[in-house]
Amino acid sequence: MAMSSTHDNAAALAPFIEAHPRLFVLTGAGCSTGSGIPDYRDADGGWKRRPPVTYQAFVGDAATRSRYWARSLVGWRRFGRARPNGTHEALAKLEADGRIEVLLTQNVDGLHQAAGSRNVIDLHGRLDRVRCLTCERSLARAEFQSELERRNPSWSELDALDAPDGDADLEALDFSTFAVPDCAACGGILKPDVVFFGENIPRDRVDRAVAHLENADAMLVVGSSLMVFSGYRFARAAARAGKPIAAVNLGRTRADDLLSLKIERDCGATLEEATTLLDRSTSFPLSRLRERAG
Ligand SMILES: [Zn+2]
Repeated sequence: MAMSSTHDNAAALAPFIEAHPRLFVLTGAGCSTGSGIPDYRDADGGWKRRPPVTYQAFVGDAATRSRYWARSLVGWRRFGRARPNGTHEALAKLEADGRIEVLLTQNVDGLHQAAGSRNVIDLHGRLDRVRCLTCERSLARAEFQSELERRNPSWSELDALDAPDGDADLEALDFSTFAVPDCAACGGILKPDVVFFGENIPRDRVDRAVAHLENADAMLVVGSSLMVFSGYRFARAAARAGKPIAAVNLGRTRADDLLSLKIERDCGATLEEATTLLDRSTSFPLSRLRERAG
């Protein structure tokens, strides 16, 4: 099925999009690095830094929660201010032009919605919400941030290296002095409304994405190495269903042997060029570009 071909030529992407009018788009961390949100993984898919906290450690250990929220208190300041970049804007435009069946994102930053994308499934949740594990009460992260700062004034003045997911590096500090508020309604544990490592994605969320994939005629991966199985499984399902897959990503992906088209370039510049070419295609048939690119 896969006719692996690698282009460093963005011109190859526009004909792919034009040939498949209902795209299932899967995005990852590479979309948001241009907005100042660091990536967890390097070009080979390895960890750049220590892996993030697991669900089991967060729920099972109060000291882990203190450490998580202390780091997050500092990291959120920059994360919460991040703005969409050219990648998000190009994908919002493709949706507005009626080319996208759904956008499934592994990112938790909400930047696709901020850029204007409407049909988005947040596979791993959203970091701008906090949820009670007992009563399901949900509150805005910004509101919770104010409460964290009120209870921990000396920590609020700390600064640290920005890290992925609003986390921050604050080593060698005594986290036991950090006060973490419980749910105001029931006293339960509050957790960011994101899927942690070791935690299951809600079944209905996966089912919705699968239904969209069935409706789609191709898959487009943007800025993801697909190293996490929750994203990779959709590439496998697309390949099984005979749907072609294109990927724009700097570095290898776990699905490289399933790809019909691979563009190893910056995703923002590539998508902007593709949308520009698609806009011109009424006067210049893209089939001619395809011959040139192929
Ligand atoms: Zn509660």
